[in-house]
Amino acid sequence: QCPWGAPNTTSISCSLADVMSEQLAKELQLEEENAAFPEVVAVAEGPFITGENADTSSDLMLAQMLQMEFDREYDAQLRREEKKINGDSKVSISFENYRKVHPYDSDSSEDEVDWQDTRHDPYRADKPTTTPRRGFIGKGKDITTKHDEVVCGRKNTARMENFAPEFQVGDGIGMDLKLSNQVFNALKQHAYSEERRSARLHEKKEHSTAEKAVDPKTRLLLYKMVNAGMLETITGCISTGKESVVFHAYGGKSATEDKVMPPECAIKVFKTTLNEFKNRDKYIKDDYRFKDRFSKLNPRKIIRMWAEKEMHNLTRMQNAGIPCPQVVILKKHVLVMSFIGQDQVPAPKLKDVTLSSEDMKKAYYQTLNMMQQLYKECNLVHADLSEYNMLWHDGKVWLIDVSQSVEPTHPHGLEFLFRDCRNVSQFFQKGGVAEALNERELFNAVSGFNITADNEVDFQAEIEALEKMNEDHVQNHGKKLSMFSSDGDPPIYDE
Ligand code: ADP
Ligand code: MN
Repeated sequence: QCPWGAPNTTSISCSLADVMSEQLAKELQLEEENAAFPEVVAVAEGPFITGENADTSSDLMLAQMLQMEFDREYDAQLRREEKKINGDSKVSISFENYRKVHPYDSDSSEDEVDWQDTRHDPYRADKPTTTPRRGFIGKGKDITTKHDEVVCGRKNTARMENFAPEFQVGDGIGMDLKLSNQVFNALKQHAYSEERRSARLHEKKEHSTAEKAVDPKTRLLLYKMVNAGMLETITGCISTGKESVVFHAYGGKSATEDKVMPPECAIKVFKTTLNEFKNRDKYIKDDYRFKDRFSKLNPRKIIRMWAEKEMHNLTRMQNAGIPCPQVVILKKHVLVMSFIGQDQVPAPKLKDVTLSSEDMKKAYYQTLNMMQQLYKECNLVHADLSEYNMLWHDGKVWLIDVSQSVEPTHPHGLEFLFRDCRNVSQFFQKGGVAEALNERELFNAVSGFNITADNEVDFQAEIEALEKMNEDHVQNHGKKLSMFSSDGDPPIYDE
């Protein structure tokens, strides 16, 4: 016996007149639709839905393709509605903000990279505005306050129009529907959360592929590296900051005979828009290694110098045995280095990791050591040292992000060092390392100076006096003061 019960086989009798009126209705409907949407907006076909290159082996990919297709259809419908609403009106509204597919491909600027800073752009959907309400209408005993149930209900119904267009509210006004505050608020909540959900999906999609985050020229550079077999695959973006975007990649075959590709790489792409770099001029302009070139260069070349600078600084650190990424290759503004982390997961920053008090202490002494090495052996001041640029990996601290590092004799080098010391000292003191030197002690321990001022202001003044002395000395004698331990060290920059 059939578990779903006996099928109902009673046939529905129907007259010819019924069939004909049904067909007529259909025709009318079609006519009406055609009139309403005279021309179907073509749905742009992306690379995702073309037959040949579609990779259907991955469920995720498949789901994304379907989603993309859905979103495109949705956008097309949105455009149709836009058209319908606007008609021939001179003033038009746009649903552009509600579109799902980001129009990134219409990006026309060739040279500029224009990606978002994921570190601080929490997407916030624009709240629909409601018209300001007067508290009441009418006069005397005919007064109706905004709390009047009927008025309020109608108003609530009307306010539903402010929900995002994809939120189907039906013809509440036509039905003279009166919504209680409770129901309205529940609906509103739902409408907003839907909106946020789609915004989140949207955002993920934007950052989902490595290629979308960089400009065409950079993309080409990256493709070339993959093509040359240097990189196996570029898997995705680790970080997008104001000045750089960092990708993860699996290393490919060796670039040259003597160089072995690390199994995993980090690709730091220096952002080629300039505004963010302008305020960093002081790091490079006064760095004598780059001084001569700086003035003659166009801004794009200056960006490349940042990448170069990071490479040189990393190499110095590597030579001194400081744990840091190993330079693999530099191409223009793209620096490939070894990846600190494993299986695509970058090592956590010191600020994000919870260390046992024992590890914390270990990390502190290691950091102190590294700062001294950096200063004495590498002749460098990190200049952006903090728990943000120290990674915890393999039970030790790794230093990264050294594009802005300068030599101690840089006109502001000692100030930068003092700032580094303050960051480090504060971090470890707050982290409960009782032995951690305070910033002034740390400064002396790293630099070998012996500034005795016991307060910050005087200390800083002495630092600046030292810097000034050195500058004057350079002016008069063409070389640095001998009390800067780095004297005699030839500039590394020579390519
Ligand atoms: P920014 O100037 O944007 O701060 P960073 O060099 O600090 O550039 O890199 C940004 C982030 O990318 C880092 O905080 C770190 O999480 C990650 N990162 C950078 N280089 C590496 C690397 N070699 N290995 C692993 N993660 C890295
Ligand atoms: Mn950083």
